[in-house]
Amino acid sequence: MTGNEAIARGAYEGGVTVGTAYPGTPSTEIMETLARYPEVDCNWSTNEKTALETAIGASMAGARVLVAMKHVGVNVAADPLMTLSYTGVGGGLVLVSADDPGMHSSQNEQDNRHYARFAKIPLLEPADSEEARDFVMAGLALSEKYDTPVMLRTTTRISHSRSTLVPGKRQGKEVVGFQKNPAKYVMLPGFARQRHPLVEKRLLDLGTEAEVSPLNRIEEGTKEVGVICSGVAYQYAREALPEASFLKLGFSYPLPEKLVRRFAAQVKEILVIEELDPFIEEQLLAMNLEVPVRGKEIFGLLGELGTEIIREKFLGQKLQLIQGNDKIPGRPPVMCPGCSHRGVFYTLRRLKVNVTGDIGCYTLGALKPLQAIDSCICMGASIGTSLGMVRADPSAAGKTVAVIGDSTFLHSGITALLDAVYNRAPITALILDNGITAMTGHQQHPGTGLNLKGEEAPAVDLEKLCLSLGVRRVTVVDAFDLKRVKAVIKEELAATEPSVIIARRPCIFLLSSFDEPLYVDEELCNGCKACLALGCPALSFKDDKARINPTICTGCGLCEQLCRFDAIKFSAERAGE
Ligand code: SF4
Ligand code: SF4
Repeated sequence: MTGNEAIARGAYEGGVTVGTAYPGTPSTEIMETLARYPEVDCNWSTNEKTALETAIGASMAGARVLVAMKHVGVNVAADPLMTLSYTGVGGGLVLVSADDPGMHSSQNEQDNRHYARFAKIPLLEPADSEEARDFVMAGLALSEKYDTPVMLRTTTRISHSRSTLVPGKRQGKEVVGFQKNPAKYVMLPGFARQRHPLVEKRLLDLGTEAEVSPLNRIEEGTKEVGVICSGVAYQYAREALPEASFLKLGFSYPLPEKLVRRFAAQVKEILVIEELDPFIEEQLLAMNLEVPVRGKEIFGLLGELGTEIIREKFLGQKLQLIQGNDKIPGRPPVMCPGCSHRGVFYTLRRLKVNVTGDIGCYTLGALKPLQAIDSCICMGASIGTSLGMVRADPSAAGKTVAVIGDSTFLHSGITALLDAVYNRAPITALILDNGITAMTGHQQHPGTGLNLKGEEAPAVDLEKLCLSLGVRRVTVVDAFDLKRVKAVIKEELAATEPSVIIARRPCIFLLSSFDEPLYVDEELCNGCKACLALGCPALSFKDDKARINPTICTGCGLCEQLCRFDAIKFSAERAGE
């Protein structure tokens, strides 16, 4: 199983009956897998905050619950998380934070272990799929024993790697229903003041538990170096330094200080091997151990580690790479052939406007040759950023467009649009509605008409939603109609009030079949390269002529609209020839 599948398996075997999530790489497959178990009621939430709030309610009602999100999603859920630490739980609650060191598919590589310390809750870090399953179950038990949410932190390599495990039986747990307890669940200041000392005591008790937890273990080896590590770093370090002694931390916060001291007394030097921040190392340095502690001075703060990196940086052994003869061409990420976003970004670039962007497939509009996005901060930030630009420089109103996808708009763009209406800011928001959460692998959302299990669900109407927020200028355009897209953007940029353009076309992969590929009439092509400005992977240029790769062209017709020499043709069938 992959780590993500194993996390879902752990939730199933651990008796979880409710699962919630917002999709985000590398966490997405957790809830997709858990939803396949009919005993578990799973849903996609509109964002990570509502996912955690739903999980909190389910826990209050006595259910065991798993809530999953990528690392930056925990920022969105941080508000309920901090107070959840005070209220504690009913049924066991495990929050999975899927971190992305190396930023394979993320806008930052924040180290979410800090959240466990910040919220004063236990942190579990599995190092393979079997541990991922087992740690979810251990987390549920810890959660109920200590009345606390538990964070299980995975990383991309754990989530997406496969290793073996023997599936076990599901444990049952009766859901008793919500029991009123205002002093525990109503965090008015008076009650919260009573809960805070319990949080501090709980942290001490959890530290005592971590000392004896089977999730932490010493593996004896040479006394020269003692490695302390957690998560995937354990796998790399174990392979690079097979002779060393190890303290492997699976229950890594609160730190089992007595266990650390016992380990430190057995070795001449401590080497902390951890990705990103010196989370463990700083705690060790604060303990003033009698042996030297090194870590970040050797391995640095950036990106992922690996066996070779540890060998090279600690042992000075550089891996000899075998050079092949073939030069492999670079394959930068690009929008797919037939992507409904391509023509919109082409138009924005031609209009020379400032574009505040957002998170989704369309962020690729920042890359060559489109280069049409000028900012990208976080989920839902495009509209607020645009609003700020217009507030700071009113002349920006006629030349700034906020671009946001349908799923992202529902996730966290709505409130910023409301801000624009409320503050009478003449911003132009362009919603790229391709009818799916595409970037993470086509997950449903509240606008698609289907839920996580593929059942019919009410679909929010984006036009009506925008109108109901007080936006009076809402226009829907076909994202493939370049003339109309351009005309509407110009018209709305000139408006003196907030406006929304919904550029609609389904993601090409929602279609059951593609249209016939187009072709280039070489007699008519004069090699001007105007069509290449779209950056469609199906288009290339050879011997002074444009070419279309018929095996990947989806027949969207965008390039045909750009060719002023009528050299790009629909196939005979489509042209009715
Ligand atoms: S835009 Fe038309 S003429 Fe220019 S390169 Fe492309 S196919 Fe040829
Ligand atoms: S019609 Fe043109 S733009 Fe569309 S997929 Fe084919 S080559 Fe690409």
